[in-house]
Amino acid sequence: MHSNLWVEEKFEDFLGLKFKVEKVLFSGKSEFQTVDVVETKGHGKMLLNDGLIMVTERDEFAYHDMITHVPLFVHPNPKNVLVIGGGDGGTAREVIRHPSVEKCTMVEIDGMVVDACKAHIPQTAGALDDPRINLIIGDGVKFVQETNEKFDVIIVDSTDPIGPAQPLFGEAFYRDVFSCLTDDGIVVSQGESSWYALEIQQSLLKVLNAVFPNNYLYSFSNLTYPGGLWSFTFASKKYHPVNDFNPARVAESGLDFDYYNAALHSAAFALPSFAQKGLAGL
Ligand code: SAM
Repeated sequence: MHSNLWVEEKFEDFLGLKFKVEKVLFSGKSEFQTVDVVETKGHGKMLLNDGLIMVTERDEFAYHDMITHVPLFVHPNPKNVLVIGGGDGGTAREVIRHPSVEKCTMVEIDGMVVDACKAHIPQTAGALDDPRINLIIGDGVKFVQETNEKFDVIIVDSTDPIGPAQPLFGEAFYRDVFSCLTDDGIVVSQGESSWYALEIQQSLLKVLNAVFPNNYLYSFSNLTYPGGLWSFTFASKKYHPVNDFNPARVAESGLDFDYYNAALHSAAFALPSFAQKGLAGL
């Protein structure tokens, strides 16, 4: 059954990434996007939104380790964390591994993504029923406009800047994020690829520079996003992501990771020269 089925993510009009599919587990259309979960041959279960790969079981740990543990090991005592997007649950799963975290609010716009992942990808969504996770189905843009809560760390685990995720790359959103961070707060955001999306990275860093005093880009390697080398932005009111990072805390935490480690934490901020040149002078 489905032996000739492949799923292909097309990037613009010149690149296609194809994955062999064993079985279609879920296909739906919400008011925001199409949502598919498939069982692939080489990468385990895969979530696609609007035909774009969000997570696969095989490499999701790289993305979720790096979007989560970098800010949570820089902030000295993260207690209240906000995740915007992240409907697969992988980021919230990693956040609550930190014993200092008392509450993790996750605001995902599309309930269909959460339900599909709970039903079919427990590897990422399995922690979503934890009592420390406060799951809100709603627009993250509206949430940061309206909340009176202050967060130590905000993680923007969003799709590409299209549809409902577009404002998540804009200045108005980051001004609201700034307002709902504590005085030493940190925001980390999905920052696209230096290979194929340098303009988006330039634009996001310009926005962050207009709002935050300290802004950096860091990267990691993954298997399933076009370009392989992917990035996050790190913006903070106070902390430097490397100088204010104490590597001993990683060992002391007793946490075990498959991608993140103390040496990689600092190394991730050393960008390849082509990316440095592309982002120079912003
Ligand atoms: N790792 C993924 C990637 O970069 O491809 C992102 C994972 S997660 C599934 C992204 C989520 O952001 C999607 O489920 C999408 O529905 C959600 N999202 C997009 N815009 C949003 C918004 N304005 N507020 C809250 N969630 C949003």
